[in-house]
Amino acid sequence: MSTFKAPKGTYDLTPPDSAIYLAVREAIAAPLKRSGYGYIETPGFEQVELFSRGVGESTDIVSKEMYTLTTRGGDELALRPEGTASVLRAALEANLHKAGNLPVKLWYSGSYYRYERPQAGRYRHFSQVGAEAIGTEDPALDAELIILAVDAYRSLGLKDFRLLLNSLGDKECRPAYREALQGFLRGLDLDEDTRRRIEINPLRVLDDKREAVQKQLVGAPMLRDHLCEACKAYHEEVRALLTAAGVAFVDDEKLVRGLDYYTRTTFEFVHGGLGSQSAVGGGGRYDGLSEMIGGPALPSVGWALGVDRTVLALKAEGIELDLPAATRVYAVPLGEEARKVVFGLVTELRRAGVATDFAFGGKGLKNAMKSANRSGARFALVAGERDLAEGVVQLKDLESGEQTGVALDAVVRELLAKQG
Ligand code: ATP
Ligand code: MG
Repeated sequence: MSTFKAPKGTYDLTPPDSAIYLAVREAIAAPLKRSGYGYIETPGFEQVELFSRGVGESTDIVSKEMYTLTTRGGDELALRPEGTASVLRAALEANLHKAGNLPVKLWYSGSYYRYERPQAGRYRHFSQVGAEAIGTEDPALDAELIILAVDAYRSLGLKDFRLLLNSLGDKECRPAYREALQGFLRGLDLDEDTRRRIEINPLRVLDDKREAVQKQLVGAPMLRDHLCEACKAYHEEVRALLTAAGVAFVDDEKLVRGLDYYTRTTFEFVHGGLGSQSAVGGGGRYDGLSEMIGGPALPSVGWALGVDRTVLALKAEGIELDLPAATRVYAVPLGEEARKVVFGLVTELRRAGVATDFAFGGKGLKNAMKSANRSGARFALVAGERDLAEGVVQLKDLESGEQTGVALDAVVRELLAKQG
């Protein structure tokens, strides 16, 4: 061990478990890649303003969880706490929305930072794969994104997840509802912090996890009863398209989510095996965000799925992903002369697409065979001077223990054939 440790609330991904994270990221990205989403990458930090305006001053993310810093040059930056604001900023900056092909569909994958109280499933550095469809208002687009997330979870073998669905209304109907809700909430017996929240972001109070608060919310006005006709029709179409695609959902009229920019469709995926950090992903429509960060009106929808919690969900369901072994062939030279020939074979095998590793460090046979077994390789390729003089190498099947001599010039062909 060194004198240093990973900072509080963070952890390292190391082999062999790191392979699971890569596979999860790939599984989430795969449905997006075959649905017209292009890859986007943005910096790990942005101007603080982008998040305070785009995510909202009243959100926990901005008010409590952001890592901010002042550069030597005096710029106020923040490590990105989420992806949507950055992706929209980048799309606007590159004028992607002007290329005449809306919606602009983008996906991303990366690290996010939030100063939170670390606990199982809640970290200060975590990773998400996300998708955004920018510039089009169409219930089929909301449905598409939700279906792609469900397909990603299903492709990983996950079963114990649920989709919670709600509509948050739009600028036509939400202001009146907000007032009605505020009127109701002001009459309740609530602490100072929550009373403040009533004035800034009353919908968030519905999301309060405390039982004493939830009890008082019985009879609160619900947005569902205040949606305008356009929002109602939009939401009905999203629901119908999901149902037609065989995607089950739970209508959750209290689902408001933490970000200020959401309008209409809002959703969250929760997993049954994760205790209190149950949200594995979430998203929604954010029709006003572009204007909030100085862009034109661009109605958009997106989601972000948490990679860390998806890995925890796999563990909770006892799912072992079918990962290809990192090493297929482990090559063991016996003696100096053999080293050169075998190392050459290793390069040839790798170039032919066979995952191969080599007994580095001049290990003896016994030690090298231990390493071969530990590497997870299916075959050990062993050759000493005598074998090479005869023009063969020994190929040992580490599963059956069977060993055969293979002609030097047939090794690559033979191992490729065994790969199927
Ligand atoms: P929560 O309610 O658990 O705080 P959130 O609403 O803040 O979640 P989002 O901003 O919607 O989460 O982010 C999308 C996903 O990213 C979450 O569903 C979760 O899987 C993951 N996520 C968010 N914050 C963290 C964190 N601190 N550690 C690990 N994963 C996280
Ligand atoms: Mg959070």
